[in-house]
Amino acid sequence: MRGSHCYQPIFHPGAWHPAAGIVNCPPDLEEFLVARKKIAIIGVGKIAQDQHLPVIDKSEDFVVAATVSLRGLGHDNVPVFRTPAELYRAMPEVKLVAVCTPPGVRHAIVREAIDAGMDVLMEKPPTPTVSELDDLVAYAKKKKKILFQTWHSQYNAAVDQAKKLLKRDGIKSLRIDWRESVRKWHPGQDWVWEPGGFGVCDPGINALSIFSKIMPFPAFVESAQLKFPSNKQTPVDVEIVFKSDEKHQPKMSAGFNWLEESGEIWTISVETEKGDQIKLEKGGSVLRVNGVVKVEKPSEEYEGIYERFAELLKKNKSDVDAAPLRLVADAFLLGSRENVDAFEW
Ligand code: NAP
Repeated sequence: MRGSHCYQPIFHPGAWHPAAGIVNCPPDLEEFLVARKKIAIIGVGKIAQDQHLPVIDKSEDFVVAATVSLRGLGHDNVPVFRTPAELYRAMPEVKLVAVCTPPGVRHAIVREAIDAGMDVLMEKPPTPTVSELDDLVAYAKKKKKILFQTWHSQYNAAVDQAKKLLKRDGIKSLRIDWRESVRKWHPGQDWVWEPGGFGVCDPGINALSIFSKIMPFPAFVESAQLKFPSNKQTPVDVEIVFKSDEKHQPKMSAGFNWLEESGEIWTISVETEKGDQIKLEKGGSVLRVNGVVKVEKPSEEYEGIYERFAELLKKNKSDVDAAPLRLVADAFLLGSRENVDAFEW
């Protein structure tokens, strides 16, 4: 049913109390609208505008009930609050929030949300430190609230298929190439260059979220080289070598770069022990085996995320995968530093 609701051309389903004022609203439509859960978006930046808001608008499970925005950005005619505390005071009927801020402020925002009785969806990367993420997991459990850590790149059929193939055929070697333009994907976002802003590991962690999902055995960071613009606090280029306890010692490495202006290169290439060449391309949405496309589906990562959130709410279950954050943290712990050219927007 995704994206196919017949009423969408008639009115905007994200509107505040969407059923109100509709003349001759069919009973099944009214029931459907009332059944959707109210969710508030905290932080109305690029990803909230590109994905969360439009995806929720066409979701059959959720409806945008409010936004929390330092800059006062709203969505249609839903209420806008400057702080989460104002939202929680004014709209006790809202029980869900999606936290779409930069990671540095997320721990405090999520704790406050849990204290206010919210179930919480978090953008990636979850927090700047593993300890903060561990704390949120424990706190949500203690307060009996649902915590959902999203990793959008994991929501691809090609990724699931690759995982099956690697479980069956093993890994001889693996290479991750994740290159994109910071100017295109994070225009003017100075937080990415501040401590805790992850630098090129902000997109790189997407690759690692696929890597940790598809790996048939544990992999660890063996070494890393981090290149920092001389005027910034986070890296613009990262090379990582992984190791494992596998007897045949598969060669595994990753390269992230943020100055690629020729277009996105978001690829994971694997040679299996059986001898096949498996390639995940376009951020995990395309799977090739020996050059032949086996899976190619339009990207519906955020649709998948909100379907998963609905499922978790139904099952009263949290879902937090800390593996990608641990790998990034390990790369920073083990990484050697090199200063490179200063970066200007
Ligand atoms: P962004 O455009 O900078 O938006 C973040 C928003 O959070 C800001 O616009 C601001 O919105 C709010 N905010 C609250 N506290 C803030 C603070 N202390 N500093 C800065 N902003 C603050 O960033 P984004 O690209 O949407 O990224 C947000 C998260 O989504 C990141 O964790 C990122 O990794 C993830 N993500 C981004 C992309 C992408 O394509 N850019 C893709 C997938 C995931 P208000 O003024 O409305 O409060």
